[in-house]
Amino acid sequence: MNSFDVVVIGSGPGGYVSAIRCAQLGFKTAIIEKYSTLGGTCLNVGCIPSKALLSSSHHYAEIAHFADHGIEVCGEVKVNLEKMIARKTAVVDQTSGGINYLMDKNKITVFNGLGSFVDATHVAIAKADGTSETIEAKHTIIATGSKPSSLPFIKIDKERIITSTEALSLTEVPKHLVIIGGGVIGIELGQVYLRLGAQVSVVEFMDRIIPGMDGALSKELTKVLKKQGMKFYTSHKVQSVERAGDVVTVKAENAKGEVITLEGDYSLVSVGRRPYTDGLNAEAAGVKISERGQVEVNDHLQTSASNIYAIGDVVRGAMLAHKAEEEGTMVAEILAGQKPHIDYNLIPGVVYTWPEVAAVGQTEEQLKAAGVAYKSGSFPFKALGRARASADLDGFVKILADATTDEVLGVHMIGARTADLIAEAVVAMEYKASAEDISRMSHAHPTFAEAVKEAALAATENRAIHV
Ligand code: FAD
Repeated sequence: MNSFDVVVIGSGPGGYVSAIRCAQLGFKTAIIEKYSTLGGTCLNVGCIPSKALLSSSHHYAEIAHFADHGIEVCGEVKVNLEKMIARKTAVVDQTSGGINYLMDKNKITVFNGLGSFVDATHVAIAKADGTSETIEAKHTIIATGSKPSSLPFIKIDKERIITSTEALSLTEVPKHLVIIGGGVIGIELGQVYLRLGAQVSVVEFMDRIIPGMDGALSKELTKVLKKQGMKFYTSHKVQSVERAGDVVTVKAENAKGEVITLEGDYSLVSVGRRPYTDGLNAEAAGVKISERGQVEVNDHLQTSASNIYAIGDVVRGAMLAHKAEEEGTMVAEILAGQKPHIDYNLIPGVVYTWPEVAAVGQTEEQLKAAGVAYKSGSFPFKALGRARASADLDGFVKILADATTDEVLGVHMIGARTADLIAEAVVAMEYKASAEDISRMSHAHPTFAEAVKEAALAATENRAIHV
């Protein structure tokens, strides 16, 4: 029987990063993946393909502004969706090949098949050809991720009533895409098809889209997306989603009991994701699963079985690839006797629409609820030379700092390239910077990053220069 120091179940960003870190630390490591390709949700049907389609559709949408830049388009510009999807698939395939290379390079044994516990130290692998192999594992790391969830009364047929997975491979641009759920995934995919010519309606139960983020970001993103033509039905509870032929009818009710009926040709159900442990046989190893379906872990990501750990979407916390990666690294280092630490407050959140939305730390709503005395400084991109030069004028940077100590408590931004700009805020907060610290650092001119400095100046005695 093959025997390993560490066996990782699941090859998403949590699992494969953890396997590499384990191998770097000298453990004999194996990884088990039930699909034929490595990379998990993020690479195959999540982060990467969605960003490929966002990029392609962004290029197309930009054509509408070419004339402003003195570029004349002579002749028709058309979308070839088949080619766009094929490019996305090629990006995924190439990146997945890169993970195979990394597994080889780090001498990690890859098993393709469904991993399920026999007991706390043995995992059986059921392979596609019907055979099975059992391996011995001193330590196991569960990184089995998540799957799209739905509402009990919605029947997802994967043709017209779809999840994000199908939305990444449509064969036609919908005429009217009705999106259920105004969270990150729904809004990103909504913008893809809006740009490609679909009418897009978003039905959201809460009173605003991207409800987990700072209210000011929701407000600005809603304003910009409305300008682009997206329609929103917030504070609406979906009652039914029915398909008749090629028509999907969505009914939703507001707080006053008024019912709206939306008819589309596709409905994207993006109401969240559920932790995935199907087929894992966790009980056999003594691993407890919570009522919400998450693998229960302590602060060291250790499960109720002391030699088994769990990371990523299958445990509590934000369902984000970089959170899964940090946890994967942390467990490997714990196994090696190190004392790593993750500050979950400093895991940034990003929406890859254009303008991009990015945030780290506490929202204004959270600070108010906690009774923290804070001050706020904001700076609009439209006052920035770089933003004017590229005509990316929407959005702002907002910095929240402790009223007494000036320590930065939260940074919230919407605008061009904020997905990358947020890294500066993470570094600053990791080192417990004050708003004044950021305001005194030189930021290259002209850059979008100057908005961060200006917002920090605004939070420091209202000293912004360019407003
Ligand atoms: P996963 O990536 O879900 O991987 C789990 C793997 O385990 C899968 O490959 C699965 O097949 C395998 N597996 C499960 N059970 C078994 C078993 N018993 N045996 C063997 N293998 C098994 N996050 C971001 O940070 N940024 C983004 O831009 C972003 N965009 C997204 C866009 C979309 C459309 C979606 C759906 C998600 C997006 N996410 C994004 C979320 C991100 O994909 C997840 O947070 C991330 O993939 C979680 O990583 P993970 O390693 O925990 O699990």
